Amino acid sequence: MKILVINCGSSSIKFKLFEMPEETLISYGSVEKIGEEISIFKYIGKTKLEKKIKIDNHQIGLELIANTLLENEIKNIEEIKGVGHRVVHGGEGFEKSVIIDENVIKKIEDYIFLAPLHNPHNLSGIKGCIKIFPKSTQVAAFDTAFHTTLPKVSNLYAIPYSFYEKYKIRKYGFHGTSHRYVARRVSEIMGKGKYELNAITCHLGNGCSITAIKNGKSFDTSMGLTPLEGLIMGTRSGDLDPGVILYFLERLNLDISEVSEILNKKSGLLGISEVSNDFRNLLPLYNKDEKVTLAIDMFCYRLKKYIGSYMAVLGKVDAIIFTGGIGENVPLVREKSLNDMELFGIVLDLEKNKEIVGKEGEISKDSSQVKIFVIPTNEELRIAFDTYQLIVNSGFNQ
Ligand code: AMP
Repeated sequence: MKILVINCGSSSIKFKLFEMPEETLISYGSVEKIGEEISIFKYIGKTKLEKKIKIDNHQIGLELIANTLLENEIKNIEEIKGVGHRVVHGGEGFEKSVIIDENVIKKIEDYIFLAPLHNPHNLSGIKGCIKIFPKSTQVAAFDTAFHTTLPKVSNLYAIPYSFYEKYKIRKYGFHGTSHRYVARRVSEIMGKGKYELNAITCHLGNGCSITAIKNGKSFDTSMGLTPLEGLIMGTRSGDLDPGVILYFLERLNLDISEVSEILNKKSGLLGISEVSNDFRNLLPLYNKDEKVTLAIDMFCYRLKKYIGSYMAVLGKVDAIIFTGGIGENVPLVREKSLNDMELFGIVLDLEKNKEIVGKEGEISKDSSQVKIFVIPTNEELRIAFDTYQLIVNSGFNQ
């Protein structure tokens, strides 16, 4: 059964086509810079394409993807039985992936106020695909779903309770599909049932978050009401004293959009290094440029602080897992965030850590009580799997 997975961002669409349940990747690609003068379309499947053309909106981008699939991989549109969509914010409404109907669309619209930068684009992907693939089952997989198991002690902010009751202001957490995917993979590797694993999963990519998983369920996570809380990220500050925002507003007279721009787009690795938000540009300058070195050291220090606090929260930890572009490819970050933690039963194998780059592997010493893994994330496969299962369970299988 062919399942298409779609991830619509503000100016991009990423897609992967799978044959399920075999989990075979048939083709994948992206449309980037939608709405700009020149957009970029990349496709890898039976043919390999890279085109620079103008793509005005998501709908046109989706049509281009569908036509390219028709030219290369499928004979007709109906061959695609399911389309799985990544949706960032599912609020308190969705504990797992669901088949999309009008009610689901309405709820995703209702949660736009919690994720104004993400949910509207996810919705344009859904609405576009309903037009292009009218006979396919459309499924929404929520970044927040895995974290609906957070207990109140970890998901509430210590502000007046009425703000939660009236406005649902609380920690929701994100990257749930990735945290869940890597945790389930390590359960398999360690031969444990999925509800037997205690783990700390570190998703370090453009956005970064870390999750404490207790008995296979999310117990605490670093991102909050929005993806701004927690670890230092490429351009986002992560945790900071809310007093800084008051200072920006009251003393510096910045307006709200300026404050949002600073915290979301100009902070993090970029803000401290004043060079780049991308580790690939920063690494060659480590120990050469003072601010770049500080940015990387701060990134690792914050990560280490979270790992330590989640060790305390979980008590017993089977595994620490690194994933995402940085987690998978930067041994320096893994080394600096785990050094001197023998007291916690964490012993990194420095040689293995250097070897395992961009691939799956265990990087702890045999003597380490806590096993350490690098697991390349595959959110799309997880979404394809959910989509496939929902189709089969609901009897839509043809
Ligand atoms: P993601 O959001 O998971 O695609 O991660 C993207 C980020 O990972 C980039 O901004 C880089 O900082 C980092 N990254 C990706 N690939 C590499 C690499 N080969 N070496 C170092 N950093 C990388």
